[in-house]
Amino acid sequence: MLLNNTKKIVFKLGSSTVVDKKGAFKKKWLSSLIQDIKKIKKNRDIVIVSSGAIALGQSYLKIKKSKIKLEMSQAIASVGQIHLVDEFKKLFNKNKINIGQILITPDDTEQRRRALNARRTFENLFKLGAIPVVNENDTTATTEIKYGDNDRLAARVAQIIGADTLIIFSDVDGFYDNSKKNKTLIKEIKKIDKKLYSLANKNINTYGSGGMITKLEAAKICMNSGCRMFIANGQNLNPLRKMIKDKIYTSFIPKISTLDARKKWIVSSLSSSAKIFVDTGAAKALSNGKSLLPAGITKVIGDFKKGENILIVNENGIDLARGLSSFSSVEINKIKGLQSNQIENILGYPSKSEIVHKDDMVKI
Ligand code: GLU
Repeated sequence: MLLNNTKKIVFKLGSSTVVDKKGAFKKKWLSSLIQDIKKIKKNRDIVIVSSGAIALGQSYLKIKKSKIKLEMSQAIASVGQIHLVDEFKKLFNKNKINIGQILITPDDTEQRRRALNARRTFENLFKLGAIPVVNENDTTATTEIKYGDNDRLAARVAQIIGADTLIIFSDVDGFYDNSKKNKTLIKEIKKIDKKLYSLANKNINTYGSGGMITKLEAAKICMNSGCRMFIANGQNLNPLRKMIKDKIYTSFIPKISTLDARKKWIVSSLSSSAKIFVDTGAAKALSNGKSLLPAGITKVIGDFKKGENILIVNENGIDLARGLSSFSSVEINKIKGLQSNQIENILGYPSKSEIVHKDDMVKI
């Protein structure tokens, strides 16, 4: 069976899989998924990441507009989330399964201490035999700090809890090569590169904010953390049974990773704006596993604080590594290009000599 050798599975349910076009919660569909889950639950930890708060909130509040301002969608989500989780509670309880609600913001996954706390809660819910039902905490997220789509959120959760499988139920059968006249389903993907992005359908679906691009971003996180990701059609009843039986899906094969949990967390970061550009000498040093020193830095983009996750790129902007910066962007701008022994003089206080220590860095 497809799920042999799996122990921890995250299911991501998109808004249009749980809410129908008229705005009603798809009770029959969720009941059928619960039947599927019951068959595989023994000896496995299960997590559900479900969207649908905004879609359901709109329906209860009778708001039809598709373009809603963030502040308003946050209020709508706070109404919708209660109904969403209530539907989950009723149907799971009918099957004698407890659920626990987890609402998450990017801060909870992008700050190491908070990510570890979240992991502990997941683990304890598993011990209690309860299924965590996760959504973004839409009410506190702002435009700058917001997942927006639950694809990347689900992948980050999968990485943090060490899941081996993420199944994204969507309204399509998988990832299609859209470059051909007769678009074809790609069954297996081992590498995500520019070419693959160019094949993706750029549309986003009816309710959710995700689309194929956010799914590729999610797949990257999974592949780096040793988690196999599937995109499958969630529009039919018993979607898991059907997916396994019909073998129609796209499977993203994870890299064989020797990284420890902390390094997997570092490389799977979602922060994308902060970048450090380095010269060819530093790029070579990094590829040999060395730390990043100020001398090789040519440019800094974005504002970041000490300890934040940044991307290190070469002079052409090609990604080289991700790591936790030991200095703020303001400090790096003052010391870039200098020798390490000049740092204290320029900054006026003693500090580390590496901008990103090799222990806090992962090559990509
Ligand atoms: N947190 C949003 C909701 O539940 C997610 C929307 C999306 O998946 O794009 O409605």
